[in-house]
Amino acid sequence: MTYDAIIVGGSYAGLSAAMPLGRARKRVLIIDAEQRRNRFATAAHGFLGQDGRPPGDIVRDARAEVVAHPTVSFIDGSATAATPVDTGFAITLADGTMHAAARLILATGVVDELPALPGLREQWGTGVALCPYCHGYEVAGGRLGVLALLPMPAHHALLIREWGDVTFFPNGIADPDDAERAMLAANGVAIEEAEVAAITGEPGQSAGIQLRDGRTITLDAIFTGVPSRMASAIPAALGCAFDDSPSGPIIRVDATMQTTVPGVFAAGDAARAMSFIAGAVADGYLAGAAAHRSLVMAAHGL
Ligand SMILES: Cc1cc2nc3c(=O)[nH]c(=O)nc-3n(C[C@H](O)[C@H](O)[C@H](O)COP(=O)(O)OP(=O)(O)OC[C@H]3O[C@@H](n4cnc5c(N)ncnc54)[C@H](O)[C@@H]3O)c2cc1C
Repeated sequence: MTYDAIIVGGSYAGLSAAMPLGRARKRVLIIDAEQRRNRFATAAHGFLGQDGRPPGDIVRDARAEVVAHPTVSFIDGSATAATPVDTGFAITLADGTMHAAARLILATGVVDELPALPGLREQWGTGVALCPYCHGYEVAGGRLGVLALLPMPAHHALLIREWGDVTFFPNGIADPDDAERAMLAANGVAIEEAEVAAITGEPGQSAGIQLRDGRTITLDAIFTGVPSRMASAIPAALGCAFDDSPSGPIIRVDATMQTTVPGVFAAGDAARAMSFIAGAVADGYLAGAAAHRSLVMAAHGL
């Protein structure tokens, strides 16, 4: 079947992109592999109207709202290729089926590449968090660690200081210079020089950092940054241009979420440097509306 738009990625950004298209009664297919970036967290915060809910519940309810529109279909599966064709794009799924559409929206997200630090994977999304706006409030006033797992500016520790007592772990990756050390000290941020051997604690209950010198620092939460990569190879294979963000590449888009490939839009973490659900939802809605508008204009030769 040929659709007006295919959306690859059916999480916050992809579902939001489907909403304006569905409301415009366009035929939309959403394809999703169920690998949401925040699936490791038990609660999502900071998204208006949904604060504190399990992140999967938010997506489940959003999907129900979106597929209630009769022209919107959803496939649980993985898109493996996207090929430009005369009428738009042909999308191949892992099971070999193909679907075509005039417009393509990439809401495929990114994958966090966790370094091989013992305990990190187990605590990811519980004791170890990326975003203080998402998870800082719940540990406010506590003992907080800022752990460098990639080069990060020391002033990130100052940001986290907003939420509690901070110890900065440069970890041999992000050693502050003298001016930064003075700035951190003046603001009550401790620096732990020893390199980090492991993340400790019970997910959901406690967190800590074990140092290579044998000591363990008990904390209420650890904030860090990790490198990320595109979750899907499709944007690169289509020839989309990328920009650099502090954690990894993001798809280049214009103000209407159009990529550098005509007819291909992108939204969510795959196309924004600062990642949070509200941003993914906003970008997705814009991409969906822009894709619809481009269909209408093209139909009128504009
Ligand atoms: C541990 C953790 C906790 C977080 N907590 C919060 C929070 O509390 N509040 C907040 O606002 N933000 C939070 N975030 C950020 C938030 O998860 C992201 O901003 C958000 O998930 C981005 O939505 P998205 O739709 O762009 O991508 P995702 O939610 O990552 O969804 C992308 C979807 O595309 C699918 N996909 C990818 N490639 C393909 C393919 N080829 N075929 C089919 N499907 C494909 C994936 O399977 C996935 O379902 C957190 C992030 C992490 C890592």
